[in-house]
Amino acid sequence: MSHGAIYIDFEFCSGCHSCEIACRKHLRIANDKDGIKVLEDRPYQQENGAWHWDYIAYPTELCDLCEDRVAEGKLPSCVQACQAKVLEFGTIEECAEKLKKKPKKAAIFVP
Ligand code: SF4
Ligand code: SF4
Repeated sequence: MSHGAIYIDFEFCSGCHSCEIACRKHLRIANDKDGIKVLEDRPYQQENGAWHWDYIAYPTELCDLCEDRVAEGKLPSCVQACQAKVLEFGTIEECAEKLKKKPKKAAIFVP
């Protein structure tokens, strides 16, 4: 059986932190810990004048890939909570296929 993973296409991540909150509720942890962390790649102006400003959501070592939710046929809490569709759950192979098609501003998390 293939292991699960999360494909993270952070191009349109707004840094809203909804995934962090949903994950804390799932893991029952306080707000001094993170199961997924939203990092800010702080803004700077590029040579062509365009602004570079990214937020990148990435699970931590506390992530259990929402094992109990997935066993019930539900999506992981962070995936469910993200309205920008930044986070997608699938097998490692499915996530790798997505990364092949859209490698820019994207990553795969495998626990
Ligand atoms: S999959 Fe579950 S445990 Fe992992 S970051 Fe998302 S909400 Fe947290
Ligand atoms: S991954 Fe989604 S829920 Fe999390 S900060 Fe980015 S846009 Fe918000």
